[in-house]
Amino acid sequence: MFIGALEAGGTKMVCSIGNPQGSVLQRASFPTASPEVTIPQIVDFIGKFDVAALGIGSFGPLDLNPDSPDYGSITNTPKTEWQGYPLLRELSARLGVPAAIDTDVNAAALAEYTMGAGKGLSSLLYMTVGTGIGGGLVLDGKVVHGLVHPEIGHMFLAPREEDTMPDGICPFHSHCLEGLASGPAIEKRWGLSAKLMTEDHPAWALEADYLAQMCANMIVAVSPEIIVLGGGVMQQAHLFPRIRKRTLELLGGYVASPRLTPEGIDGYIVPPALGINSGVAGALLLGARALEARD
Ligand code: ADP
Ligand code: ZN
Repeated sequence: MFIGALEAGGTKMVCSIGNPQGSVLQRASFPTASPEVTIPQIVDFIGKFDVAALGIGSFGPLDLNPDSPDYGSITNTPKTEWQGYPLLRELSARLGVPAAIDTDVNAAALAEYTMGAGKGLSSLLYMTVGTGIGGGLVLDGKVVHGLVHPEIGHMFLAPREEDTMPDGICPFHSHCLEGLASGPAIEKRWGLSAKLMTEDHPAWALEADYLAQMCANMIVAVSPEIIVLGGGVMQQAHLFPRIRKRTLELLGGYVASPRLTPEGIDGYIVPPALGINSGVAGALLLGARALEARD
């Protein structure tokens, strides 16, 4: 049986055909233009396969309130053509299959929890550090939605004294995580592409501090059993030991767990076990859930 998966991103729409266990068989990608142009491309590609359901992991913010008439719509994105677009309803109707939607990071969190770094645990935090910063949280097997859905990327941090851009670049907030530590924030602060920075560039000490502040805040707030850090910026593998060390410093030994020790933390703050495939695997799992819900 085939399941369709859509990773809806601000720059591209990645469509995959896979199975309910999360393995991918076919893939195609389309630039995110207007819905009038892009939605038919998605429907054409996925419609060629006899999919039983569709799972969507999307950029947001999304309306994920099950009681809302706009459930599954994109809400106030800066991409104005997509504002209010009923992504879930349209794709489900046009493809004629049950569909489920969640944020891209919640989908990735679900996949890492089910079949990746969090396998066998009961909670997991997944963060992506790229063009934006977002986080998804699974607690006791449930993806946390709450009031709207978590926006961990917009958590407020304490700017470092040596930071020449202490307010960050988020248009909504001063000194939030995304504004201080996303790829574009690094590039604006230093006037250099993050990809081109060597390991000894001072950008990385600052970056590790900000990501460690987030980890420490999430540890004291929700106590996840594992923290998975993905996204383009985390391709800088040397960030991991720095973030781990700084997280322990910030916690000051207060939270007692064998995982929060110099020996234990290497297995606690980790890269995605599914690599760049956590998003698509999560969307396939959501599709499988949509099918179960209908049956
Ligand atoms: P997106 O968030 O757009 O889906 P990515 O997760 O790849 O995509 O994030 C893109 C951002 O990550 C850009 O700001 C880019 O500069 C940064 N980035 C990508 N690869 C690297 C790398 N190897 N080292 C540092 N920064 C990177
Ligand atoms: Zn913000």
